[in-house]
Amino acid sequence: MADLKDIFLDDSKIAFDKKHRQTLNFNISKYDEAVAKGKLRYRNMNLAKERASYLKGKIVANLAAYLEEFEKNAQKNNIEVIWARDSKEAVAEIIKVLKAAEAKLLVKSKSMISEEIELNENLEQSGFEPVETDLGEFIVQVAGEKPYHILTPAMHKSKEDVAGLFHEKFSTPENSTPEELTAFVRQVLRKKFTSADIGVTGSNFLVADVGGVALTENEGNGLMSISFPKVHIAITGIEKIIPSIHDLPLFFPLLSALGTGQQVTVYNSLITSPKRKNEAGGPEKMVVVLLDNNRTEIARQEEHYEALKCLRCGACLNACPIYKNIGGYTYNTIYSGPIGSVITPFLKGFDAYDHLSFASTLCGACSDVCPVKIPLHKLLLLNRKKSIEQHRGSFSWNTGMKVYQWAFKKRKNLDLVNGNVKNALLKTNKNILGKEKELPPVAHHSFSTEWKINNK
Ligand code: SF4
Repeated sequence: MADLKDIFLDDSKIAFDKKHRQTLNFNISKYDEAVAKGKLRYRNMNLAKERASYLKGKIVANLAAYLEEFEKNAQKNNIEVIWARDSKEAVAEIIKVLKAAEAKLLVKSKSMISEEIELNENLEQSGFEPVETDLGEFIVQVAGEKPYHILTPAMHKSKEDVAGLFHEKFSTPENSTPEELTAFVRQVLRKKFTSADIGVTGSNFLVADVGGVALTENEGNGLMSISFPKVHIAITGIEKIIPSIHDLPLFFPLLSALGTGQQVTVYNSLITSPKRKNEAGGPEKMVVVLLDNNRTEIARQEEHYEALKCLRCGACLNACPIYKNIGGYTYNTIYSGPIGSVITPFLKGFDAYDHLSFASTLCGACSDVCPVKIPLHKLLLLNRKKSIEQHRGSFSWNTGMKVYQWAFKKRKNLDLVNGNVKNALLKTNKNILGKEKELPPVAHHSFSTEWKINNK
């Protein structure tokens, strides 16, 4: 199997694909415009960020206590709570629930956790039919692709791309407008919603004091997914816990302002039980799957615990100069961009994924935009340190860095050889900046040597 680091370098050639870059930059520019408006909701956004960061830090430090409180209150509400140590356990538990309900068709609202545990692939292999109902997720599912971005799964596709895709898969008119395509998807999904056995959602927040699952969305597909089917399964990472319903007015607007640039998202729901006796609609059974997948290990880390504050707003991806050039798929991970580069080595191993932390300019744009003030660029640097300390770099990389360190320590060392020798050395590693870029030739003498010669 090819090394993921080689795949990364290979895939990063996409940075030179103009069409890809144009689509990505166009979609991010629309996001930037919206965020500027969304921020107007705040008189002092920094203060809101400070509060959110402080609270999330307190939560991560007391994760077990808040989760137990959630479990106790959720069970009182007649919600079944399942703890899953890893993806395998989570999938096995979900399949048990599906079998008990004699289910076949599932409607799913957007959930990165379901991507993390590869739920669709696992369910399809076991004979179930999962259908994505978020428009962006539906598009990538139809295309046979993975989400490209943690919040905007089809960000890499232009409206023309989607029209072409639907024409090919569903024979819709070739030049359909976004409105026509949306109306078409709506029609397809209505049938799925009303005939599905199970509704699967993620959770934006788990609210400990009321034992409920908070969802924020724009399309209403989350609510539809839990309104018709007889069973609702919410899958969530354990870090999504917040102490109280009173914290939602802090987190919901922060998520919408930085995530989509809205002052408030269209549908904000708190689901606190399956259908009650006096209620006409809703699922008969509700199950919450709490996934660890090494999160407790991250919580124990001296510095990296901060990564568990993440709200998955996607702002750091949109701000990142690397993401804006290479896009989501190059990372070969579910969580891409700066936050993905920080957490993926912890979720899936440093051996395979530490290279992601090196693909950063460390400019700090990600840390600046983060609504919970995660010092992402610092954590990327710490990942590099961890990687180097464990001698993960290749022999040529480690030797090269040692020579570099020695040469740049003193001007005298650099001046030991003239420009001809330096240029000859650089030619031995022609692709030092990648195949698409070249270093300018080094001058025959350094500036200080030249100065000395001319001022003798
Ligand atoms: S790290 Fe911060 S900016 Fe990035 S997705 Fe998470 S909350 Fe948003």
